[in-house]
Amino acid sequence: RNSTDNRHKLSAKFTIDDRKVDPAFSRKQKIAEHRKSLPIASVEKRLADEVRNNDTLIIVGETGSGKTTQLPQFLFNAGFCRDGKTIGITQPRRVAAVTVAKRVAEECGVELGQRVGYSIRFEDVTSGSTRIKYMTDGLLLREALLDPYLSRYSVIIVDEAHERTVHTDVLLGLLKNVQKARSKSFNDCLNIEKKKENNGTLSDKDNGIFLKQCQGRKFPPLKLIIMSASLDARGFSEYFGGARAVHIQGRQFPVDIFYTHHAEPDYVDATLVTILQIHLEERPGDILVFLTGQEEIESVERLVKERLQQLPEGSRKLLTAPIFSALPSEKQMRVFAAAPAGFRKVILATNIAETSVTIPGIRYVIDPGFVKARSYDPVKGMESLIIVPTSKAQALQRSGRAGREGPGKCFRLYPESEFEKLEDSTKPEIKRCNLANVILQLKALGVNDILGFDFMEKPSRASIVKSLEQLFLLGALTDECKLSDPVGHQMAQLPLDPIYSRALILASQFNCLEEMLITVAMLSVESIFYAPREKLEEARTAMKCFSCPEGDHLTLVNVYRASNEFLEKRTVGLSKEKNEKILRKWCKENFINSRSLRHARDVHSQIRGNVEQMGLRLASCGDDMLQFCRCLAASFFLNAALKQPEGTYRALASGQVVHIHPSSVLFQAKPECIVFNELVQTNHKYIRNITKIDYLCLWVGLIDFRFTLGEKRIEN
Ligand code: ADP
Ligand code: MG
Repeated sequence: RNSTDNRHKLSAKFTIDDRKVDPAFSRKQKIAEHRKSLPIASVEKRLADEVRNNDTLIIVGETGSGKTTQLPQFLFNAGFCRDGKTIGITQPRRVAAVTVAKRVAEECGVELGQRVGYSIRFEDVTSGSTRIKYMTDGLLLREALLDPYLSRYSVIIVDEAHERTVHTDVLLGLLKNVQKARSKSFNDCLNIEKKKENNGTLSDKDNGIFLKQCQGRKFPPLKLIIMSASLDARGFSEYFGGARAVHIQGRQFPVDIFYTHHAEPDYVDATLVTILQIHLEERPGDILVFLTGQEEIESVERLVKERLQQLPEGSRKLLTAPIFSALPSEKQMRVFAAAPAGFRKVILATNIAETSVTIPGIRYVIDPGFVKARSYDPVKGMESLIIVPTSKAQALQRSGRAGREGPGKCFRLYPESEFEKLEDSTKPEIKRCNLANVILQLKALGVNDILGFDFMEKPSRASIVKSLEQLFLLGALTDECKLSDPVGHQMAQLPLDPIYSRALILASQFNCLEEMLITVAMLSVESIFYAPREKLEEARTAMKCFSCPEGDHLTLVNVYRASNEFLEKRTVGLSKEKNEKILRKWCKENFINSRSLRHARDVHSQIRGNVEQMGLRLASCGDDMLQFCRCLAASFFLNAALKQPEGTYRALASGQVVHIHPSSVLFQAKPECIVFNELVQTNHKYIRNITKIDYLCLWVGLIDFRFTLGEKRIEN
């Protein structure tokens, strides 16, 4: 008897031990425990009931309480995906859509792209069996073009609504309409079905509706959930006719806030000093640093590594983990991995880490107090990216990130008196961006009266009018302000800025669509060239091999083609991984940012598919550079600039004085007349991505363009 008992005990012990050493199992268990410990876990049933009882619901909860990752799973479990319907969750940022989908797939124990997937511009990881779908808000807007009822969704969750990106704001207005339309269609169908049951026959009208709407495609009402981190749920609730709002208690430990005594002249340097100070003097715990963009993050990362080398061996246990939207997703995931024992992790992030992604383990936050934001001047019709101070709400949100798992510290790199001067909250993006893209999409969705559209906050009349004017100049609108046929409709189909869409359409007429596809793909990604400070000269020499005297656009085309040629020669019959590896090496040798190039290649293949579908003529202008420059002039004439006597430039449309950015191949040459694609504002207004054009070319281009426009008018 005894011996059997022992055997039992032994085998029981074995199983337990087995589990202990199986890393996959322990990870699963950890995840399950983590999920149970989240503040939202205790209200799963209540939330599902709230959604069942309210067609529109506002959910407010602190960052990290589990809204984004858990709520869709709760709703799935509660049966909201019956009948094959999907739960859609929109995010303002690509990074968030991707990282969260990965996490949730893992939590559910399914392969990404199956039950849980994501879809962002230029990348769709979903399948017919996807029931929980994370996506960008812009992407859902595009889906509405093809499916105005958004009929595949039972629930749509608009996440991070407090961010108030332009897409979120437009989406909210649109979803309000979709919800109404679906309820109406649903009720119509119910009534007709009832009539049919009662008297067996239907009037012609009812029969028509029945055949058209009800049979086989009765849309259940759309459940709409607006989720937000900030405390002001009232605005959303009012906008949705007094919708119910629920609050989820978060966990927040005290955070000590430190300010500097004086204003810091160089916040990058101040950041560096603070990182090292925390690392050397404070208790263990990871550091989260808020920077404004990729370049700043990469430069701080490099500086931290340099400084570490100067420290004694024992003090070097500090790892950097960058996160920004252009970073490839496998690298983004590194911020979530715990640092090895004894190491401290410093996460260098853009404001995506404010609320969009929740990173565990943070005890210290460094907040220099700046953010890169879009800004639009409706008088000049110019949009630019500028670095501006954060709002108070943003500063609070950032410091809160230090106190999710225990008491924390936040170092604001500015004096306390400055904090008082900050704006209370960030202005919605719709009030500070060019609306051309949004208007084009709304028009394509059948919303013709833009000024009358039910925006949560109306953009100014001036900026609507300016954007309409721009669309008109690009040939997208008719005199009656309707989408023009085919140009306007074609432009709305392309997932690009209207000016780029127009460039592609024009290029097919100029016989240089191949070159323009490459140009647009390369312009759609972050900087292609990579020039580390310590190897600046080498990088410049490398860049010269590609540079084209005409300007940056053709230089980008050269880089793209050189990478193609290289791949064709070197990688015949190799696996995809080998291919990538060889390309990465080639990029490194040529000082090219390999992830940007890879992204550009993806964008290229997608928009190539788009233009082929539209039936545009794919042709190359070969060595006829002039032809391509003419096309650039005709496409980007809204961004033409002329040299001034003192060597600066004056933008023709806006009258602003601008400078050629030092990274341009035309920085030295300073030609008389140029077109450019990007305006960046630091201490000066810099323009980037520039091509020299013949003054005459600009006019010929313009006349050509006007001519096409004229021709179209005559046809109309
Ligand atoms: P909320 O949306 O309320 O801010 P989330 O659902 O994003 O909260 O996050 C809930 C928890 O899940 C957080 O505590 C975070 O640490 C964890 N988490 C989220 N994404 C990941 C990930 N990719 N890897 C590890 N942990 C994650
Ligand atoms: Mg969230």
